[in-house]
Amino acid sequence: MSYKKIALLLLICFTTACSFAQTLDEDGEIKYIKKMYSNILTESPAHDWLHYLCKQVGGRLGGSPEYAAAVSYTTHMLDTLGCDTVWTQAVEVPYWRRGAIEKAKIINSNYVGTLDLAVTALGFSAGTGALGITGAVVEVQNFEELEALGKDKIKGKIVFYNRPMEITRLNTFHAYGAAVNQRTAGPRKAAELGAIGTIVRSMTVKQDNVPHSGVTSFKNETPIPAVGIGLQDADLLSALLKKESNVNVNIQLSCKHMGNRIAQTVIGEITGSEKPDEIILVGGHLDSWDLGEGAHDDGAGCVQAMEVLHVFKRMGIRPKHTLRCVLFANEENGLFGATEYAKQAKLKGEKHLAAIESDAGGHVPSGFRMDAAANIAKESYNQVKNWRTIFASLGLWDIQTGGSAADISRLKDQGTVLFGYRPDSQRYFDFHHSANDVFENVHKRELLLGGGAMAALVYLIDKYGVR
Ligand SMILES: [Zn+2]
Repeated sequence: MSYKKIALLLLICFTTACSFAQTLDEDGEIKYIKKMYSNILTESPAHDWLHYLCKQVGGRLGGSPEYAAAVSYTTHMLDTLGCDTVWTQAVEVPYWRRGAIEKAKIINSNYVGTLDLAVTALGFSAGTGALGITGAVVEVQNFEELEALGKDKIKGKIVFYNRPMEITRLNTFHAYGAAVNQRTAGPRKAAELGAIGTIVRSMTVKQDNVPHSGVTSFKNETPIPAVGIGLQDADLLSALLKKESNVNVNIQLSCKHMGNRIAQTVIGEITGSEKPDEIILVGGHLDSWDLGEGAHDDGAGCVQAMEVLHVFKRMGIRPKHTLRCVLFANEENGLFGATEYAKQAKLKGEKHLAAIESDAGGHVPSGFRMDAAANIAKESYNQVKNWRTIFASLGLWDIQTGGSAADISRLKDQGTVLFGYRPDSQRYFDFHHSANDVFENVHKRELLLGGGAMAALVYLIDKYGVR
C-alpha cells in the first residue's frame, strides 16, 4: 500500500473515531445526567404528587368517582408543570365496585369449629346475596388437576386454587407470571365445571395474612363469587383439608358489576423543537386497585412519568422530539385506556418513536426491558447498548430485551421502541393489589431515583435517537 493510501486510511479512521466520539460524549453525558439526578433529588415534587394521589384520592378503580378525582388532579398538575398541551381521552370501561361486605369462614369443622378467613373479592367477582354461599372446598394446584376431577367432583363445590408463587425464582415477576392464571382464569374454569365459588391463594411471597385482589375474567360464563385469601389462612385451610375430608366454607360478598362508565386517559406534552411530529412517550396507569391507595401500583409510575417532563422544564431543556406524558385509564380491569390510545394514535397517524412505562413499583431502579417489532428490535437494542456505561454509572445495570410494560405494549405494531422501567422486584408483591399498597410503603429517594432513570433514558433518546 502506498503512503498516500495509508495516510488516507488513517484519516478515515481518525475522522470516524472523532465523529463517533462527538456522537456520544460519554463523560459529558454522565456529568450532565448526574446534574439531572441532583435536580430531581432536591427539587422534584413527585413525592408530594404521590401523597395527594394516595391520601386525597385513594384507591381508584377505572370508572369510579375516585378515578375521576385522580383525572382532575393530574390534569391540573400537568398543566401547572408547564406542558404546552394537556388533554384527556375518553374511553368506555367496565365498572365493578367492591361492597362493604367481604367475609369468609370455615363452618363446623371437627378441628377448628367456625373460623373467619382473611379474604377479599377479586375484580368482576359476583356478589353472594345476604346469606352468602356455602359449599365443600376442593383444593387444586392447577387446571390439570381441576379438569381431572371433572364436573362430577366440582359441581356445587368451592374450588380452592392453592399454587404458591415460587420463592426460588429470583425475579418475583416471573413467579407472579407462573402463578397468576389461577386468579385470572381460575374462577371461570371452575364455573364451567359447575363450581359455586372460588378461593385463590394470594399472589405474594410475603408470609402474612393480607389478601390480594386483582382482575378475574368470566367471558361467557355467569360470574361466580371469587376471593383471594391471605397466605396464612390458605395454608391453614390446606392443612385442614388433609385432616378432614369435608371442609365447608361460607362466603359473603356484596360486590357488584355496575355496568359501563366513561373514564379518561390523561395526556400532557411538551412540543418538540426539531421533530414535533415524533413522540417520546413516558407513562404509567392512573387507575389502581381499591384496597390500598395504589401507591406502588401505579401511583409511583404516574408521578415518575410526570417528573420526567418537569425536570426538562426545570432545567430549561427543550426536547427535540415531543415529550408526551400519558397516564392510562383502566389498566387493571382490561387495558381499555391503552387499547383506545393505540387505536387513536393509529387513526391520527401519530409516530411514537419510543415509549417508556413505569409499572413495576417505586423501588430501587435496576434498569429497563426493551421490546420492539422484529424489523427494528436489533438495531434499537444495539443503539441502547452504546449507553451502557452511562447507565452503569447511574446504577442501572439491568438492560435487556424481552418484555416492556402492559399499556405501552399496545404500540408495538406501530414501530415504537418500548421500554419497561425495572426497579428491584423483591418487595413489590408484598404490596401489589392489597391493603398494603399505601404511600407509607414508598421510599421517597427510591421513587425519585426511578424518575431520574426514566429522565436519563428520555434525554438520551431525544438527543441520539433510538435506532
Ligand atoms: Zn400496575
